[in-house]
Amino acid sequence: MTKVRCFIWRAVLNGIPTACALQKRGINFNTINCSYCDLEREDTDHVLINCSMTAKVWYGIPQPQFGNLSDMVKFCSTWGQCLNKRKNLISICYGIAWLIWKARCDFIFNKIRISPNQLAGNIQSMVFTWIKHRIAVTPPNQTAETSEGSCDLN
Ligand SMILES: [Zn+2]
Repeated sequence: MTKVRCFIWRAVLNGIPTACALQKRGINFNTINCSYCDLEREDTDHVLINCSMTAKVWYGIPQPQFGNLSDMVKFCSTWGQCLNKRKNLISICYGIAWLIWKARCDFIFNKIRISPNQLAGNIQSMVFTWIKHRIAVTPPNQTAETSEGSCDLN
């Protein structure tokens, strides 16, 4: 999860190598269009949040839709009253953005294309493992101290 947090942090600061970011650094491509839809420029917000392919993955979970990555991070970090539930939401949203990026790189560099449904399935199992692991390593008494009041872990 630490590397995913780093990835999100870099992405918010426009530090991930999208086609637009690389062009700004002087690296020329045939196109700076999104490799998924080929309709818009591939910048961070487009590829992680707004692309038609990406949006299908986000629409798979019941939550408000975000206009950009910063909105998503802000929403997650202030959502709800329960720290454990908030951590779960952060795991879900960060996991979605991370695996969307990995799928994009797989598509560009390895020509592997997966459907939004397959991607959503991969995200689900990865995030489920993170959450299960976090609950398993948190002693019960520590849960009560860190959860800002009582709440269940669902
Ligand atoms: Zn696109």
